[in-house]
Amino acid sequence: MQPLPPLFARLGGRRFVARWFTAAAIATSAIAGSAASAATDCQNPDALGTARVLEVDAASTPQVGTKSFAQTLPLADKEVVLTFDDGPAATTPKVLDALRQQCARATFFLVGSTAVAQPKLIRRMAADGHSIGHHSWSHSDLKKMSFAEAVADIDRGIAGDETALNGKASSTPTTPFFRFPYFDSTPELLAHLQSRGIVVFGADLWASDWNPMTPQQQLKLVTERLEKARKGIILFHDPRTQTAAMIADFLRWLRDNDYRVVHVVARSAAASAQPR
Ligand SMILES: [Zn+2]
Repeated sequence: MQPLPPLFARLGGRRFVARWFTAAAIATSAIAGSAASAATDCQNPDALGTARVLEVDAASTPQVGTKSFAQTLPLADKEVVLTFDDGPAATTPKVLDALRQQCARATFFLVGSTAVAQPKLIRRMAADGHSIGHHSWSHSDLKKMSFAEAVADIDRGIAGDETALNGKASSTPTTPFFRFPYFDSTPELLAHLQSRGIVVFGADLWASDWNPMTPQQQLKLVTERLEKARKGIILFHDPRTQTAAMIADFLRWLRDNDYRVVHVVARSAAASAQPR
């Protein structure tokens, strides 16, 4: 995918939609173009917005997220990357609506077996400008499988997601981002994914939304953690009702507390075509 310029410029304390994005849309590929078109649809001058786009590749950052790895993304104070795992689900459109309302771009790590059955929803994600990462086919604990079985599950997942996205099965992901179910990886699988140019995402901050709680409790928990950490890759689960119910409030909280959303995308094909 082409690198995308920031969606918003802050001038005099106010946010303005970058209208020049329309021109960029004409020159880019179909997917990037539709993403850019969606960005121009942002009619909310008070939106949180997306402050900048960060290109990521496996050559410089093969694994990111301090909950699992030594390294993470180069984020400044009060910068966050929004990530959602385990979708798509019935609650996903509500999350997409909230993100669209705030012109905020996120990354969805899809479960292939559900993605393949909901191509319209996956295409909406792409059209809204979000990055589409991969989260296996079966959401099994890949660490407990043989290497060959684990790779087969990863590839089937990618192929399912790509079928939903582009109508064509391929184990070469459009966006080479992967997150292990339960963050359970092995050194062999990490090396394998790195050799294929696939970035493995952990997280810096958990919403812990696998624990049942009210949307209010969920909001309180994640904002308190963020106030302490001040930045990072945040992990949510869009299939969780409590998350879908609080995400609009969370995005407003980010805006009102001067946090900035960073959208992660794959480094452009030309840049990533370096010898490994
Ligand atoms: Zn998961």
